[in-house]
Amino acid sequence: MTEPAEAGLPETETQILAALDRFLVREVEPHVMALEDADEYPGDIVEGMKELGLFGCVISEEYGGLGLPVTTYVRIVERICETWMSLSGIFNTHLLMAWIVQACGTAEQKATWLPKFASGEMRGGLALTEPGCGTDLQAIRTRAVRDGTDYVVNGTKTWITNGYYGDCVALLVKTDLEAEPRHRGISLFLAQKGEGFTASRKLRKLGYRGVDTAELVFEDFRIPETRLIGGTEGLGLKQALGALELGRINVAARGVGVARRALDLAVAYAQQRQTFGKAIANHQAIQIKLADMATRLEASRHLTRSAAAAFDAGERCDMEAGMAKLHATETALFNATESMRIHGAYGYSKEFEIERLYRDAPLLVIGEGTNELQRIIIARQLVARHPD
Ligand SMILES: Cc1cc2nc3c(=O)[nH]c(=O)nc-3n(C[C@H](O)[C@H](O)[C@H](O)COP(=O)(O)OP(=O)(O)OC[C@H]3O[C@@H](n4cnc5c(N)ncnc54)[C@H](O)[C@@H]3O)c2cc1C
Repeated sequence: MTEPAEAGLPETETQILAALDRFLVREVEPHVMALEDADEYPGDIVEGMKELGLFGCVISEEYGGLGLPVTTYVRIVERICETWMSLSGIFNTHLLMAWIVQACGTAEQKATWLPKFASGEMRGGLALTEPGCGTDLQAIRTRAVRDGTDYVVNGTKTWITNGYYGDCVALLVKTDLEAEPRHRGISLFLAQKGEGFTASRKLRKLGYRGVDTAELVFEDFRIPETRLIGGTEGLGLKQALGALELGRINVAARGVGVARRALDLAVAYAQQRQTFGKAIANHQAIQIKLADMATRLEASRHLTRSAAAAFDAGERCDMEAGMAKLHATETALFNATESMRIHGAYGYSKEFEIERLYRDAPLLVIGEGTNELQRIIIARQLVARHPD
C-alpha cells in the first residue's frame, strides 16, 4: 500500500529506503518461509544488512554510522517488519546497545566500540532479563564484584536476543547489594564473549524464529573496569531504561509493520475469496473488520511517527513512546488475528504468510516492557504532567 506520509523526506533518506525496499524484495522475501520454518539464522541476509549500513543507522556519522533521525529509523523498521519481523530483532536490539554506549559511554568506549558496532563487525544486544525477573529489573541477581582493576561476574541472563550469534551485550548487574534505593546498586557493562561468558542454549519460541534468543551464563567472568559503561557504578538502570525509550519506539514501528502486512493480506484475500456468489470483501461483517484494522493501523502510525519526532527533538517522550508501543503492538495482534480469521482455514495453514504474523505478533505486547507496564508508565506521566 502506498504511504502518503513518505513525501518530503530528504533525498539521501529516500535513497536509503529505496535500497532497502529492493533488498527486501530480492534478498529477503524469497527466503523467509524456509528460514522461519527451519528456525535458521539468516546469515546471508545479515551480510546484506551490514552492507546497507543497518547496524549503524542511528549511530552518529562521526563513528561510522548513518546518523539517521529516529523518524527515518522507524520507517526502516516498519518496512522490514512488513517482510519479516525477526530481522528487526537482529539489528534493533544491537542498536539499543550501541545507543547506550553513544549516549552514556566514555570517550574511549565510544571510539573503541561504536565503529565496530556501526559496521556490524561486532554485533550484540541487551542482557537485562533473568530467569527470576523481567519487569522488575531491580530484582536482578547477577553480581559483579570488584577485584583489582577487574570485576568478577556471576549469574544467568535469559531471553537475550542476539545472545547466541552475537559477540557482546550490554550487561545489567548488581555492583552493590546493600544500596538504597536499589537502583543505585545496579551497573551496566559492555561484556564481550570469552572465558566465563557462554551462551548456554538457544531458546525455542512460538514465533520470531530465525533470530537467536539465548540463555547466557556468567561463571567467574572477568571484565575490566574500562568496560563499565560511563565509568561510574550505580547508573546502570537509568542507562538501560533510557535506551528503552528508543526501544519502545522501535517496537511500535515493528507493530505498525506487522499490522500493515496483516491488513494488506486481508484486503487482497477478501477480494479473491468468494462465498454466496460474491467476494467476501462485499460482506458487511468483513468490511467492519477491514475498517477497524485500517483505522487502528493509521492511528498507530501517527502515534509512532509523533513519538519518533519528539525523540529527535530531544524532548522527554516516555509517555509518547509508551502510547505508541501500546497502541501499535495491540493493533499488530488485533490485525494479525482478524486477518487470520478473514483467511478462514487458509489462515491456519503453514503455506499462508498470515499464519506466521499470527505467531510473531504476540511478542510485541511482551517485549521492551509489557503492555501492562506501558499503561502504568503512561498513567504515571499523565499525573506527573498534570499535577492537581
Ligand atoms: C522472544 C523474546 C525476546 C526477548 N529479548 C530480550 C532481550 O534481548 N533482552 C532482555 O533483557 N530481555 C528480553 N526479553 C525478555 C522480555 O523483556 C521480558 O519477557 C519482559 O520484560 C517481561 O518480563 P517477564 O517475562 O519476566 O514477565 P514478568 O515480569 O514476570 O511479568 C509477568 C506478567 O505480570 C505482569 N506484571 C508484572 N509486573 C506488573 C505490575 N507492576 N503491574 C501489572 N502487571 C505486572 C506483566 O505485564 C506480565 O503480564 C525477550 C523476551 C522474549 C519473549
